[in-house]
Amino acid sequence: MVLLREQIRYKSRREIEKMRLAGRLAANALRVAARAAKPGVSLLELDKLAETFIRKQGAVPNFKGYHGFPGTLCTSVNDRVVHGIPTDYVLRDGDIISIDCGCKLDGYHGDTCLSVGVGQISEEAQRLLQTAQLAMYVGIEHCRTGNRLGDMATAVQEFAEARGYGIVRDYIGHGIGKELHEDPQVVYADQRPGTGFRMEPGMTITIEPILTTGSHRCLVEADGWTVRTRDGGLSAQFEHDIAITKDGPDILSLPDPEFELEDGL
Ligand code: MG
Ligand code: MG
Repeated sequence: MVLLREQIRYKSRREIEKMRLAGRLAANALRVAARAAKPGVSLLELDKLAETFIRKQGAVPNFKGYHGFPGTLCTSVNDRVVHGIPTDYVLRDGDIISIDCGCKLDGYHGDTCLSVGVGQISEEAQRLLQTAQLAMYVGIEHCRTGNRLGDMATAVQEFAEARGYGIVRDYIGHGIGKELHEDPQVVYADQRPGTGFRMEPGMTITIEPILTTGSHRCLVEADGWTVRTRDGGLSAQFEHDIAITKDGPDILSLPDPEFELEDGL
């Protein structure tokens, strides 16, 4: 698909600061849920914690009701890749869970995701989580004025594949601002360096590559939302909202320090 430059909504400094408030609130709520992700806790309980937190701050969960999605969070456990509906599934020792959290505050959206282990997890799972987080930061590092989206995607794909992981093709990043999903589409695989949109100050996008331990191929479950790997391999994702500035990438979805997780997430 060919997109015109005009379809990208470049943000003013004032708008970027509003997005930072939304991103921070989503990041704080995400960590409230991630801290609670222990053996014996259900996905619905995590969802309720995040929703209550977001509403208390005068914001609204922006995933809830989006094309009919029922949750405040997407909760994707083990081989679930993305868009996992929060259910009464009770987390078990050794699970990994990707938690994606978004909110709308004062007209602007935040959208951020991280993946954590539940209790004691395998070395394979630990390595996946670490690599998925690093892959996101490789992408962020390439969010610089003058770079093309294809440069960023190539760097992320090479990083992940060199370490033996798949990169999911079917679910991608996006522009973000007054809408949860704006142009451009942000993909992380099968691009060429020097192609795609040129990054310019005021562009705000999500960096959210999804890594898998096996094949990148996915299927959608019978609930119409929850996506899982075809081969049953594990999947993990991290996501930040990024503003391109003349001084480099500005991460808009960092939590307040008191909400940071023990391992610095
Ligand atoms: Mg997200
Ligand atoms: Mg997103």
